[in-house]
Amino acid sequence: MRCLIIAEHDGQNLNTATARAVAAASQLGVEAIDVAVLAHGGQALAEQAAILEGVSQVLLLDREENAHPLAAVLAPQIAALAEGYSHLFMPSTTFGKDVLPRVAALMGLPQISDLMTVKGPHHFERPVYAGNAIIELQCPPEQPVLATVRTASFKPVGTGDAAPIETRALEIDLPGHTRFVALEADAGDRPDLQSAERVVSGGRGLGSEENFRLVEQLADKLHAAVGASRAAVDAGYAPNDLQVGQTGKIIAPELYIALGISGAIQHLTGIKDAGTIVAINKDPDAPIFEVADLGLVGDLFEIVPQLLEKLD
Ligand SMILES: Cc1cc2nc3c(=O)[nH]c(=O)nc-3n(C[C@H](O)[C@H](O)[C@H](O)COP(=O)(O)OP(=O)(O)OC[C@H]3O[C@@H](n4cnc5c(N)ncnc54)[C@H](O)[C@@H]3O)c2cc1C
Repeated sequence: MRCLIIAEHDGQNLNTATARAVAAASQLGVEAIDVAVLAHGGQALAEQAAILEGVSQVLLLDREENAHPLAAVLAPQIAALAEGYSHLFMPSTTFGKDVLPRVAALMGLPQISDLMTVKGPHHFERPVYAGNAIIELQCPPEQPVLATVRTASFKPVGTGDAAPIETRALEIDLPGHTRFVALEADAGDRPDLQSAERVVSGGRGLGSEENFRLVEQLADKLHAAVGASRAAVDAGYAPNDLQVGQTGKIIAPELYIALGISGAIQHLTGIKDAGTIVAINKDPDAPIFEVADLGLVGDLFEIVPQLLEKLD
């Protein structure tokens, strides 16, 4: 049995989600864990993947078309690479959720989404109903297992000796119907929400887009990523890629600070695996206090400026 993991990166750095997928693979009891890096000019990325603990080999697919990761272009390459592997894992991030279903369709196989526990090489658990129920799955051993790995459920592996890197040239035609045009990304240098160690999130309690700056200020002081509740996103205080929760991002930072967030079940689903949860809310009965490790009952517009001052 061999497992192939598709690395996630921004062209320069490997996302920690890859190291978390390796952690899941190392619980399978497979003989080898290979990581495929699909990038153009990706030698430095391949070297980052090669030192992940437990990795046996890195396959580098250095093609012009891989300069920008497009699911439609990556999926046929991954399907071609997957031959001979018993398991194919990708992190359950926006990237993995975009790419792996296409790979599964090309291979004519089903996909397991959000794998959260490895009980055996073909025996897994995954959450359903916003994490309120867990289902156990048994997969037929005769066919490859394709799964997205719930990154919040696995701690990233450390680093060790470098595994060999092999550059692969896949002689396959790639679809031309989808092309990269431009990338519009937040120019800020805040950490990525899904892999950040600290996250400060704001909710409807912030009251306006202007007031939401308070969340950003606290995040910047703590070198944290910014998150938001769905109510804050729906009200236009924050962009929707910052939404945390059932229909947003599932995250597992070491520190999560919730400002003016009530703690609806759909929001809590996204922070179940956070280390320390701090909540600031003026309502002492807000459900967020049931899960918070530290809670401050009070007006965030008084507390946060004081916190900012102290952090100076
Ligand atoms: C299918 C479905 C999927 C959903 N997915 C998500 C999801 O992914 N993520 C998500 O977040 N929600 C999701 N929701 C919505 C969720 O049910 C809640 O409506 C939402 O999380 C509420 O956001 P909130 O806590 O910011 O707002 P509210 O529930 O309105 O809470 C605002 C809080 O701010 C506090 N507050 C107000 N003023 C102050 C102040 N000055 N100082 C301190 N505290 C103050 C209030 O006491 C209150 O507790 C989903 C709902 C459904 C039905």
